[in-house]
Amino acid sequence: MSSVFDDLVGQEHIIDILKGAVAASRTGSDSQEMTHAWVFTGPPGSGRSSAAVAFAQALICPNQGCGACNECLSAATGGHPDVEVIRTDGLSIKVEEIRELLTRVAWAPSMGGWRVVVMEDADRLTESAANALLKAIEEPGTRTVWLLCAPTLHDVLPTIRSRCRHLQLRTPSIEAVTQVLIRRDNISPTMADFAARVSQGHIGRAKFLATNESVRSNRKVIMQLPLQLGSLAAAFQSAQILVDIATTEAQATSEERDEKEVEKLQEAYGKGATGRGMATGAAKAVKELEKEQKSRATRMVRDSIDGALLDLATFYRDVMMAQLGVTDSIINSDIRTEIESYTSSFPVHTAAQKVGAIMEARNHLSMNAAPLLTCEALMCDLARK
Ligand SMILES: [Zn+2]
Repeated sequence: MSSVFDDLVGQEHIIDILKGAVAASRTGSDSQEMTHAWVFTGPPGSGRSSAAVAFAQALICPNQGCGACNECLSAATGGHPDVEVIRTDGLSIKVEEIRELLTRVAWAPSMGGWRVVVMEDADRLTESAANALLKAIEEPGTRTVWLLCAPTLHDVLPTIRSRCRHLQLRTPSIEAVTQVLIRRDNISPTMADFAARVSQGHIGRAKFLATNESVRSNRKVIMQLPLQLGSLAAAFQSAQILVDIATTEAQATSEERDEKEVEKLQEAYGKGATGRGMATGAAKAVKELEKEQKSRATRMVRDSIDGALLDLATFYRDVMMAQLGVTDSIINSDIRTEIESYTSSFPVHTAAQKVGAIMEARNHLSMNAAPLLTCEALMCDLARK
């Protein structure tokens, strides 16, 4: 029988724990296996929020997570009254949002059983938001289960994480990602293998790459940059190219979504309706939405640059492998010749330094450094022999 846990690629070590918790939750007693607060951590793309959503489905499904019944389906699509998935598009989750959430989930579950809140970006809680949430988690006897997701345990406030059960997801193997792309997304084996390899176990990125021609060609341009860093002028130019590509890619995704959101909001306010009160209310709401969209767009550009930098890092990683003679583990086998020609023209020790420089640039970006400046400094570093 299929189950909601089937698509949690490479996470067998936590699936047993989750199934145990689901079984224990049926007995009604507050046992060791079933607790009210959980933290799912794991590297980007490991599927921490998918794991949390699967757990939510299993908790409310009469068949412990069949994936096919009404409960399972509506929980996954946001239509179940007892399951709430909080996704943040902004840079932080504010205390007002948590207060509003807490009033929403204060009611007993409508179907009996459990009320489940999945918070995808618990690392973005402001301190006051986290404190408000803490009170709710500490409340005894509630039927609400909190499933928080974050990159690492350090990203969650100590007071919260000490009250949660922790599950650490792993980066799935390339083979496992390949298989899921073939089976779940009907992607050809060759493409699935390529996408899984260059995405380094990031399932979402692998699927995006495998199903998107323009994303693949953008990636190709980025992977050629290390070969073009012959001068400082070229370094600055490369930085511009990287930022432009990342920005365009992020904009393409967000523009379409932005438009739809504004349209939906206007519809909710009765587009075309007259009456002064309605018009001012709508204008204010649209303005607020646009502010949120702007902050999301900023974040998406940063995420997109980060992805491009990770791609670049795999180039230098492959150079190291080639220098060590371990050519069968090369990630970017499509540009093997380029990697080999680079390897012969740069000293052996520099590749590791360049990976270090890329990681440092990513770190600066995560602390809100200016994207273009950061990339320019990085490219100058990468150009050095
Ligand atoms: Zn079900």
